[in-house]
Amino acid sequence: MPSQRDDCLFCSILREGSYVRKEKGFVAIKDINPQAAVHLLVIPERHVDSFREVGEFPAREAKRMLEFVADTAREAGLTDYRVQVNVGPSAGQTVFHLHWHILGSGPQHADDKAHAETAVVEL
Ligand code: 5GP
Ligand code: ZN
Repeated sequence: MPSQRDDCLFCSILREGSYVRKEKGFVAIKDINPQAAVHLLVIPERHVDSFREVGEFPAREAKRMLEFVADTAREAGLTDYRVQVNVGPSAGQTVFHLHWHILGSGPQHADDKAHAETAVVEL
């Protein structure tokens, strides 16, 4: 596993191996304190303190990380959602291991009246 830190909460969670989704280099977990009906965190195995250091990811790994975020949202049944990264304490970052919040109102289906417009576009 690339660059792990003994004193990092998310590195420990990665070592414990409890996650909702995993692919080489990345996991998704449920946020312990959800701020939306679906609130997942995508965590790369490579420890960097924040998004500021995203340049430390090899280009292919950075692309795969973004794809993993999109695939995780899709597999959670979300079509519309927010992706959020807090960078630095005054922007709300509390865990200093890069992670991506996925926030959605819940699984969406083509027959869901609230999403009828989307369904028409998809047809
Ligand atoms: P940040 O505030 O750094 O952007 O996001 C950290 C997130 O990690 C918060 O939303 C918080 O609820 C979540 N979190 C903190 N500790 C744990 C934990 O032990 N397990 C899980 N699953 N989530 C955690
Ligand atoms: Zn870490």
